[in-house]
Amino acid sequence: MSQKIAVVGSGLIGQNWSMIFASRGYKVSVFDVDQGQITRAEKNISVTLTQYEKDGFLRGEIPAAEQTKLVTFTSSLQDCLSGAIYVQECVPENLELKKKVFAQIDELIDGETLVASSSSCLPSSAFTESLKNRHNMLVAHPINPPYFVPLVELVPAPWTKQEVIAKVRELMEIVGQSPITLRRESLGFALNRIQYAAINECWNMYQSGLLSAEDIDKVCYDGLGPRYAFIGPLQTMHLNADGIVDYCKRYADGAYNVQKETFKPIPVQYDVETAEKIQAEYNASIPLDKIPEKRKWRDARLANLAKMKNHL
Ligand code: NAD
Repeated sequence: MSQKIAVVGSGLIGQNWSMIFASRGYKVSVFDVDQGQITRAEKNISVTLTQYEKDGFLRGEIPAAEQTKLVTFTSSLQDCLSGAIYVQECVPENLELKKKVFAQIDELIDGETLVASSSSCLPSSAFTESLKNRHNMLVAHPINPPYFVPLVELVPAPWTKQEVIAKVRELMEIVGQSPITLRRESLGFALNRIQYAAINECWNMYQSGLLSAEDIDKVCYDGLGPRYAFIGPLQTMHLNADGIVDYCKRYADGAYNVQKETFKPIPVQYDVETAEKIQAEYNASIPLDKIPEKRKWRDARLANLAKMKNHL
């Protein structure tokens, strides 16, 4: 008999997690406080999995109809959590709400159940400190859209047990995600720290009039992006010379000089004036009313990239 996983909150992220867990045969019980949302989520998961199967994007070996049946919905948190080995919390990013929901979960689980928050920014120490099962709780932060972007940032609180981190990491690998483990809490976790460093330089280059927004984006999607889809910045250094030590001997001075000459002090304020100029540029290619369409385009491309990477 397959094990049960509980998903609390059935919005965008809750639906993605549900499909990911079902893809490897877990029974998924989804809870939401909003009955209308439960109805929408149930329909959306069924339609989405059927479509993914048609498009060749479905994860796992189980047919879409079977995966759909593995995901059930409930308006009782107790029923959702009952017998679950793992809980993935997916309620909106609001500290008071996370505190409330984690306290409710804490009351209903036994000492064996592991609980992870999908929190994008809030560290779990901010909402688990007073809970009796706090050693079984941590953050497992997915990247949108999680079904096609596999990274999950595991961020333990100071009291999260090592074996809990190891078990959640193993579960993420079983369901086909790509977990990383931070050794301690850090504001922005890892992805956003790297992302903000990149955005800062893009902002500075645009503000100084060096390139258009379109050309700055192109540097990433036709330059760094294809490379970073397979190897990270540190491995790039390692491969671009005879090892990273050799890279530093050869290129460290050059890299230092570029930074010294061009980098601006941080933090960078994303000022509205610059934002309006960039948006005016995008008005031709992606006007505001076309953003939903462009998001679908992005997700379809990410789906194709995930499919391609899985077949390499
Ligand atoms: P969402 O607004 O789409 O969905 C949240 C769901 O939680 C809604 O269906 C809502 O009805 C439900 N909810 C509200 N209160 C609840 C309660 N007390 N108990 C149970 N359900 C409740 O939000 P989302 O985008 O799915 O985000 C969920 C979490 O995932 C947030 O912490 C967010 O920061 C994080 N996250 C979001 C993204 C993203 O790009 N959207 C990416 C990574 C992580």
